[in-house]
Formats: sequence, C-alpha cells, structure tokens
Amino acid sequence: MTSSNAGAVAPDLVVPEELSNNVMITNIAKLLDPAYNWARRNSIWPMVFGLACCAIEMICTASSRYDLARFGMEVFRATPRQSDLMIISGTVTKKMVPTIVRLYNQMPEPRYVLSMGACASGGGPFKEGYNVVDGIDKFLPVDVYVPGCPPTPQALINGLIALQEKIDQQSIATAPWYRKDDPTAGVVPIPVLGPDLVDLRKIDTIKREAAKALAEQEKQEAQERETAVSPEAA
Ligand code: SF4
Repeated sequence: MTSSNAGAVAPDLVVPEELSNNVMITNIAKLLDPAYNWARRNSIWPMVFGLACCAIEMICTASSRYDLARFGMEVFRATPRQSDLMIISGTVTKKMVPTIVRLYNQMPEPRYVLSMGACASGGGPFKEGYNVVDGIDKFLPVDVYVPGCPPTPQALINGLIALQEKIDQQSIATAPWYRKDDPTAGVVPIPVLGPDLVDLRKIDTIKREAAKALAEQEKQEAQERETAVSPEAA
C-alpha cells in the first residue's frame, strides 16, 4: 500500500517515502474478514429438516434443476451438529417448537436461521389455528425471511443469496458468537407444552399475570359470597 493509500486507513500515520511502496498497512479485520466470510458463505450446510408443504419446495431447490451446489449449499446434513443453517420450511405447530428450539441449541456457532414461507414467518393461512405458532421469530433469531405460500425454489435461492450478503457484512472482530454479551448467543430456553405453549423466557411475566388473575378471581368469589349471604341476613 502506498503512503496515499495508507492515509485512507489511518490519516495521522506518516509513512516514510522510502517505505511507501513496500509496506502494507491494514488491520487484522480487513485482512481476515474477506477470507473468513468467503469460506463461510460458500460452504453453508443446511439441516435436513422440513415441517410442511414448504419443505417440498426446499427439496426441489436441492434438486439438479436448481443445483444448490453452485452456492456451496448442497450438503444437507442429517444432524444439527454438522449444520450451520436451519431452514424453517413449513407450518410451525406448538407441538414442534420445543423440538425445533432443541435442534437449534444443538447447532454450533456460527449458525443461521432462514424462515421460509408465510407459515414459518407469521402463521400463514393457519394463523388462527389453536395449534399454530404465529412466527418462529417468537422463539429463534431469524436472519432471513422468504415470503410466499409456498416460496418457489427461486425465492428460496434468493433468500440464501441474501444470507450470503449478510455473512459478507460480518466481521471477525464483532462476530456475535465471540461476544459474551450478545443476547442472541448461547442457549435458547426450550419452551414447554402446557395448557398452551410456555416460553420460559417469559416465565416471570406469566407468574405475575397468573397471580394477578388468581387474586382477581378470589376477590370476585368473595364478593359473590357476600351478596349471596346478605339477603338471608336481611
Ligand atoms: S406457507 Fe403455504 S406452502 Fe408453506 S407451509 Fe404454509 S401453507 Fe404450506
């Protein structure tokens, strides 16, 4: 890098004339990031994991007609330990969410989540169903949303390219999986099935609201008892 280029990196830095054509001045992030991101973006391994009709489109995307191998993504893995992309392809039911979160927790960092289709992103046509979760982003950090019902293979490929572009913007210096204070890093609490799905991250709020509701109910019952007793007393 010449002294003029060096000025672009660090304006205060004066490079002696005799060194100006021999010394490259950069920082570790600028040197490493392109290689680090290039390697990851072109070797994403999605997990073999389908939930409903969108999964058929995902399977088609992996077929020879569309050829995901062009993007280095053709190796669908049958285990979360070897996957770095979870494609949520299909309707997310309350019964499945604990399993989905468990699988996500078993994936090593860096890991990504792509929400494929209307169902995964917002409940889709089954949003009002008693058994349907209205968006996987209530439980997992989603990196890319692909709209459609179902999204075509082309749409999914577009979403995967969007993910590659997102990876290009990441820096080894600020990568979330190296940061202890990152709220999305680490283990996501696995929701439990009960009368309804319980998100353990909201357990304090749930307990508070339940106590409030119980107090209200007791108060109402006491009032009803009083009004039932008073006519006889009169
Ligand atoms: S978005 Fe449409 S195609 Fe995809 S799982 Fe839902 S209903 Fe099926």
